[in-house]
Amino acid sequence: MKTLRLILGDQLNINHSWFNTTDDEILYCLFEMRQETDYVTHHVQKIIFFFAAMRSFAETLRGRGHQVIYLKLNANKNKQDLTENISLLISTHKIEKFEYLMPDEYRLDLQLIKITKSLNIPAEMFDTEHFLTQRDELAAFFGEKNYLMESYYRDIRKRFDILMDPENTGKPLTGKWNYDVANRKKLPADLQIPAPLLFSRDVSDLVKLLDKAGIKTIGEVDQKNFIWPVTRDECLELLEYFTAELLPHFGDYQDAMSEEYWSLYHSRISAAMNSKLLSPLEVVERAIKEWSKRQDEIVIAQIEGFVRQIIGWREYMRGVYWAHMPEFTDLNYFEADRQLPSWYWTGKTDMNCLHHAISQSLQYAYAHHIQRLMITGNFALLAGIAPEEIDAWYLGIYIDAIQWVEITNTRGMSQFADGGIVGTKPYCSSANYINKMSSYCTNCRYRHQERHGTKACPFNSLYWHFHHRHRELLENNPRIGMVYRTWSRKNKDEQKAILRQAEQYLEGIDKL
Ligand code: FAD
Ligand code: SF4
Repeated sequence: MKTLRLILGDQLNINHSWFNTTDDEILYCLFEMRQETDYVTHHVQKIIFFFAAMRSFAETLRGRGHQVIYLKLNANKNKQDLTENISLLISTHKIEKFEYLMPDEYRLDLQLIKITKSLNIPAEMFDTEHFLTQRDELAAFFGEKNYLMESYYRDIRKRFDILMDPENTGKPLTGKWNYDVANRKKLPADLQIPAPLLFSRDVSDLVKLLDKAGIKTIGEVDQKNFIWPVTRDECLELLEYFTAELLPHFGDYQDAMSEEYWSLYHSRISAAMNSKLLSPLEVVERAIKEWSKRQDEIVIAQIEGFVRQIIGWREYMRGVYWAHMPEFTDLNYFEADRQLPSWYWTGKTDMNCLHHAISQSLQYAYAHHIQRLMITGNFALLAGIAPEEIDAWYLGIYIDAIQWVEITNTRGMSQFADGGIVGTKPYCSSANYINKMSSYCTNCRYRHQERHGTKACPFNSLYWHFHHRHRELLENNPRIGMVYRTWSRKNKDEQKAILRQAEQYLEGIDKL
């Protein structure tokens, strides 16, 4: 039976059982399509990453003897739409069965269900053999109970026997599950951080292709020196670099931010994993192996912190996504409706922390977790920016942004637009936290200690304004009560001055 097998751009798992044997009756297909380049305005490096990775994956498959049809963006036959491309290939190649891998995005899931229903040949969906848990597992695990990442994470650790005590069934190695409190150190001034491992691929052909097609993008790219890994070997090299050089301090400085270093001790493997060039299990196993060899140098807090992000947060977010789509895309707990300030697209703001986080995102299509959460996300939350505007920004700008992991982090973790599905309280802070965890405030036009006045840091008054305007929704949250007690201890004049300052900043938000 002649079979067509679809591989989407984020399904580049060469170890998938589909590829164990070759068969001339099986035709694999990959498409570069306007449908995918245009559903949001992407960072130019993000599109290049996916196209370059897909092209190289197709070559690998061909090299292993598989039959592959690859439609480049400018191919004459390319209809630029998944439904039309599939139906074209089915009729041209007299296909008798259609097979595809389970999509991770809701919109593609729906589209593929629709496609299969419209076909007059049999169709079958296969697992991507990438995640540790199933799509619907989180919903079943928690049932009616509140979701808690920590419980899900512990369960996965037990089931996959990751960092567990071999002599004490069901107990974590060292007796402790989570070292989060050890992951919050500020960078010492004299610390020499290894430079990030950068690649230098010439992608000028792809840049030309996008330009010629008139695809709207954001951000910059050094077309002679594309820095991201796009083949599996390069991704493995990045993983090796991380385990050798960065893992020893990963946990320590996970929450730190710096003007000088844009990725610090972070692994930068999210795009490699989200495209499935690397599997989460192989990543944690490799890191644990390194830790086992170098326990005198790498303390448990570093490895546990890393493992938690991947088998904890990443699997948890995917479970939340499938438990709450499609309604997750409409959640707006605070009814936020302000437009995103224009400087989110340029980095041109006097707020040094935001200037840095946004500029580096435009330059590298990357910011690390705390920059996304406590700088760009924090500001948007405090200022009451509409979640759909924030989603479009995060979904476009980051090299690793795919909706299942973007929207759960953005609407859920960062904006609390889900009213507490992902987290138990909004992640927000005044300048105090930013000053503690970064060097940004030292060189800022605003003063991090001041709450009102012409030089007062906007995060301070906006922090109080946010809590003041959402008092009804937040006051009874046991984790926030302290904030309101502190507010009520301020005298009335001080309260008024802070709120007035915030109003002024909100009115002139584009000029901050
Ligand atoms: P490291 O710090 O080295 O962490 C290792 C790995 O852990 C990451 O590669 C990632 O796969 C995983 N991880 C860490 N935190 C999370 C998390 N909260 N959720 C899921 N996985 C996690 N991650 C994406 O992959 N795509 C996104 O579009 C995305 N959008 C985000 C938006 C916001 C507002 C926030 C707060 C976070 C977002 N994240 C997203 C999560 C996290 O910030 C990135 O995974 C991380 O910064 C990627 O860099 P890294 O590979 O150097 O991560
Ligand atoms: Fe950011 Fe305020 Fe610090 Fe400036 S003073 S860097 S705006 S937190």
